[in-house]
Amino acid sequence: MSIAERYSEILARKDAAAVRSGRKPEDVTLIAVTKTRFADELNEVIDAGATDVGENKVQEILEKHEKVKPVRWHMIGHLQTNKVKSVVDKVVMIHSVDSFHLAKEINKRAAAIDKVMDVLIEINSAMEATKSGIAADDVKALVSEIAENCENIRVCGLMCIPPRCEDPEDARGYFREAKIIFDDMKNWGLPEERVNPVELSMGMSNDFEVAIEEGSTIVRVGSSIFGPRRVR
Ligand SMILES: *Cc1c(COP(=O)(O)O)cnc(C)c1O
Repeated sequence: MSIAERYSEILARKDAAAVRSGRKPEDVTLIAVTKTRFADELNEVIDAGATDVGENKVQEILEKHEKVKPVRWHMIGHLQTNKVKSVVDKVVMIHSVDSFHLAKEINKRAAAIDKVMDVLIEINSAMEATKSGIAADDVKALVSEIAENCENIRVCGLMCIPPRCEDPEDARGYFREAKIIFDDMKNWGLPEERVNPVELSMGMSNDFEVAIEEGSTIVRVGSSIFGPRRVR
């Protein structure tokens, strides 16, 4: 199957899962995760209808940005503060905010280009040492601190990556936990122009349908569209 065919198949499964969970297809966004893929492969998926692509390394965004047709870029991987400056003007959303230190730098660089940067707070669901993200219990404190200090950031919701599991059902509990915090965010009394929780970014190739059933609004799918990742 071609990239275009696989993209269409994942899109159809995404739409069906949205309807199954009582929502409209357009209420759940599919991000094509293009890490390790070449610019021509991005153009192929864009031609197939992809509106949003996700990368987990700044370097790859910089390398491909100019070579690829217009599309919405998402930063979904761990972001170092010294690289914020080079992506803040290129991405529509940063999914991986996990410290006030990082938020402050995003705020500063966004302010410099007169932009309000949309971000998500990344939860490390099982507190795995190999993953970034913060503990579920720390989300409220971080969001409050950002809301108070960062005029050029809008917190749009949460991102989570549960532990890798064979059976997607094993991830369901983690997705449910993230959804509870996400729903609770509306009750924190924070100003809407700073905290507008509308996006819950969860679900990857092997578990995106379960994630949608549990309330995901953005799924990030790579290998099911492009095949196994290249070794970098
Ligand atoms: C690689 C990656 C994905 C996509 O993973 P697949 O299993 O290939 O679909 C999603 N989210 C993040 C943060 C990633 O780094």
